[in-house]
Amino acid sequence: MKIVTTIKEARTEIERVKQEGHTIGFVPTMGYLHEGHISLIKEARKKHDFVVISIFVNPLQFGPNEDFDRYPRNIERDEQLAKDAGVDLIFYPSVAEMYPTETPPMMIHVSKGVDVLCGSSRPGHFDGVATVVMKLFQIVQPTESFFGQKDAQQVAILINMVETFNVPLKIVICPTVREKDGLAKSSRNVYLQKEEREEAPFLYKTLEYGASLIRTGDRNTSTIKNKMLASLEGGKGQIDYLEILHYPSLEKTNELSGQIILALAYHYKHARLIDNYIMRIEE
Ligand code: AMP
Repeated sequence: MKIVTTIKEARTEIERVKQEGHTIGFVPTMGYLHEGHISLIKEARKKHDFVVISIFVNPLQFGPNEDFDRYPRNIERDEQLAKDAGVDLIFYPSVAEMYPTETPPMMIHVSKGVDVLCGSSRPGHFDGVATVVMKLFQIVQPTESFFGQKDAQQVAILINMVETFNVPLKIVICPTVREKDGLAKSSRNVYLQKEEREEAPFLYKTLEYGASLIRTGDRNTSTIKNKMLASLEGGKGQIDYLEILHYPSLEKTNELSGQIILALAYHYKHARLIDNYIMRIEE
């Protein structure tokens, strides 16, 4: 496994691999790897000759009062985990390497699917995500890129981006990896206090509860949401949002049909957690 920090070095490696006729599987990450990331790497490993991951905490996708500075980082630990999972190349650029000027001269502006969920509670977040992922796609030029369902809005927007800009690659969606008690794995889980960590599985339980209401015939979005909100009442954090939408269009719905997403974000003291549940309603 090799680790490179410049775009030039990454390009040289990738050109060599492409000339040898190999396919490239790519997993963009912000590092502090956990089993969610590893599952994406393993999926890429199964399908491709050469696996690249990027580790880059992208300042463009963090708001002014968010946790960019506090985001967990540990490159030595990540290198070992990546090596064990079968990564061939880590692209680990600095902020200056990715953004040589303080303000980037242009950015992608996402205009669809951002008026809900993390798009509405983190204004500009998905412009930052789309811009960095587009840059990474240009640098790595992968055959396929692997993303987690955990960030369901992100992957829906990136699929849209690839279609809109005719980027020649396929996006593969991988299921959310969870702790035994149901909590979705996340780099930010290390910032949960003991009592918060004990409580946090109730987020996924609430999503499962909402899904079970739908499965047993409940079709009224606001009633379902109210019941779900009630099950979060008394929690140690604060609800950022709880929504039921069509997926992947992310359109609001009063009539539940087709594929839908139940999604929530929840603020604990030092960590904002997101999770979702996607289901198909067969009439
Ligand atoms: P991050 O480092 O949090 O930006 O995540 C990098 C990639 O890993 C994204 O595609 C995420 O959706 C994915 N990911 C993060 N957590 C999980 C998880 N628990 N299960 C599956 N994929 C995940």
